[in-house]
Amino acid sequence: MGKVIAIANQKGGVGKTTTAINLSASLAAAEKRVLLIDIDPQGNTTSGFGIDRESLQINLYHQFIGEAQMSDIRIKTMLSCLDIIPSSIDLIGAEVELIGRDNRERILERAVSPLKNEYEFIIIDCPPSLGFLTLNALTASDTVLIPVQCEYYAMEGLGLLLNTVRRIQQSFNPYLRIEGILLTMHDVRNNISHQVIEEVRRHFEDKVFETVIPRNVTLSEAPSHGKPVILYDVRSRGAQSYLSLAKEVMDNAKNGVR
Ligand code: ATP
Ligand code: MG
Repeated sequence: MGKVIAIANQKGGVGKTTTAINLSASLAAAEKRVLLIDIDPQGNTTSGFGIDRESLQINLYHQFIGEAQMSDIRIKTMLSCLDIIPSSIDLIGAEVELIGRDNRERILERAVSPLKNEYEFIIIDCPPSLGFLTLNALTASDTVLIPVQCEYYAMEGLGLLLNTVRRIQQSFNPYLRIEGILLTMHDVRNNISHQVIEEVRRHFEDKVFETVIPRNVTLSEAPSHGKPVILYDVRSRGAQSYLSLAKEVMDNAKNGVR
C-alpha cells in the first residue's frame, strides 16, 4: 500500500512547494511510483512542472465538486514514475460551494484511497493555511512533513500546527503521524541559521530530518524552467540535498516512521 505524505505549514514561503516537487522527483528517480497532488489554489507545484493551468479542462477542483475522477485529471510528467494532479484557483471557492455536503473534509481521502494500490508514495502540497484544503489533505494522509525555514521566527506557529495535527488525530484521522520536520533554506554564512537548526533539533530531537536543505539559487531557478532540480542541475547542492531527503523518506517507509 502506498504511503500518503502531506507537506504542510501554515506559514507562507517556507519551502513546501519546493519540497513537494523535489522530494517527489527524487523518489521517482529512485524508481518509486509517485503521485504528486497540488491542493494549493496558487498552483505553484503545477506550474513548477511547466504545466499551463489555463489550458487544462479539468483539475482537482472538478474532483472536489464531483465532476471528474482523479484518474482522468492526472497528468504524466517528464519522469516516467511521476504523475501529477494539477490545481486551480477555483479551489478557493470549493469550501463555500460544498457547504452542507456530508463529510466534505473527507473528499480527498476518498479520492486518494483507491490510488494507494497504484503508487508507492502520494505527496500532497498544501496551501499556507490550516483551512478546509489542508484539513482535507491531513485527513487523507498517513504522515505530515513540516518544512521549517532556518530564520529567526522559524518556531513561531509550529505549536499551532502541531495542535492542529492533534485535533485532526482526535476528530478525523487517528492514524496521522509526523513524518519529520525539515529544515530549509539553511545559509551557512548566517549565524541565526545555525542557531535555528540547534534550537529546532533540541526541541524536536529525532523528529527532525538529518538532511538540511541549503539556500541554493538552483532550487529557485528550476521551476522557471518547468523542471524539478534533478533534471535542471543534478550536481547542484540543492539537488543533492533533496536526493538525500528522499533516501530518508524511503528508509522511514521501510522501517515504519520515526
Ligand atoms: P507558499 O506558502 O506560498 O505555498 P512555500 O512554502 O510553498 O510557499 P516555496 O514556494 O517552496 O514555499 O518557496 C518560497 C520561495 O523560496 C520560492 O521563490 C522558492 O523558489 C524559494 N526557495 C525555496 N526553497 C529554497 C532554497 N532551499 N534555496 C533557495 N530558494 C528557495
Ligand atoms: Mg507553496
